[in-house]
Amino acid sequence: MSGDKIRLNTEWLCDCGGCHVALVDLHEKILNVLESVEIQKCPVLTDEKLYPEADIGILTGSIRTEHDRHAAEEMRKKCKTIIAFGTCAVYGGLHGAGLAHSREEIMNHVYRKSPTTKTDFLPDSEITTLEKLVTPIDEVIDVDLYLPGCPPHAHFIFEGLSSLIENRQPKARQETVCAGCKRTMKKTEVTEIKASHEGMPDDDTCFLSQGYICLGSVTLDRCLAPCPNHGVMCSGCAGPTMQILTEPTHDIRTEISERMSRLTKIDAQTIKTHMEKSAKTHYAYAMATKMIGNKPTFLINKWIADVEAQ
Ligand code: SF4
Ligand code: SF4
Ligand code: SF4
Repeated sequence: MSGDKIRLNTEWLCDCGGCHVALVDLHEKILNVLESVEIQKCPVLTDEKLYPEADIGILTGSIRTEHDRHAAEEMRKKCKTIIAFGTCAVYGGLHGAGLAHSREEIMNHVYRKSPTTKTDFLPDSEITTLEKLVTPIDEVIDVDLYLPGCPPHAHFIFEGLSSLIENRQPKARQETVCAGCKRTMKKTEVTEIKASHEGMPDDDTCFLSQGYICLGSVTLDRCLAPCPNHGVMCSGCAGPTMQILTEPTHDIRTEISERMSRLTKIDAQTIKTHMEKSAKTHYAYAMATKMIGNKPTFLINKWIADVEAQ
């Protein structure tokens, strides 16, 4: 500690910057945090290039480049406690969907084919190169606290930081998003899977009962269920439940297809096939973690093997 204050470093790796913005989203509660914390390194606030000794280190983003790997290792060396902050840091995040493509395909798409950044050349060798895979940070360094969410919800950011400042265990339950959802699951006569833009779902009935894929029942509640309570299906941005992650026989598509088929007249295999075809969407947030990628029955397994073989 420096004086009475806790020294904080933050660093971002392969990410969108949203997690750092979420820190400011604490609104007036950030003042409570700042009373106890001295920010030493933070890419959006300071121009500190080195890694000073710190009590808490917040890492956002996943590891995709040599720079990311070096930064994570330096943070681990210099910070007593490391927080994997956000779904990218915890499970690889949305970038994990890149596993379905080779590095060349990604680079060509971004630099040569994207309508907004079209050029005729790729970055030169001075730019750190993409690693083959997207890696969650705990596969590279030890992590002390996990705070998933894309980005994490202000309630849980405040609880996580307060628990460290007060030197106590964080209060965080293991419920699914359904626990905070006001919709009711009921048996219906629905016979078809609908895309999110089709039809007009009613506000009181569970999306699964209405034929819409909602991942609330396989997603850890780290958000207080804002999406289903405001008319949008849960896309699983806080990552899977512990049951999905740790039990080999449980999988997102299997759980959803069995639950949805019990609530509707849609056959479980039809739902499973539909989810397999759109796996890049339904597994996007967590497919980079070995706990999902290594599930024996899934296409992601093949994508990872293909990328590793390149
Ligand atoms: S977890 Fe979401 S908000 Fe945070 S850096 Fe990754 S993509 Fe951005
Ligand atoms: S599956 Fe979705 S809509 Fe249904 S109860 Fe759970 S969160 Fe709510
Ligand atoms: S309801 Fe689902 S998609 Fe929405 S914030 Fe929560 S975990 Fe993310």
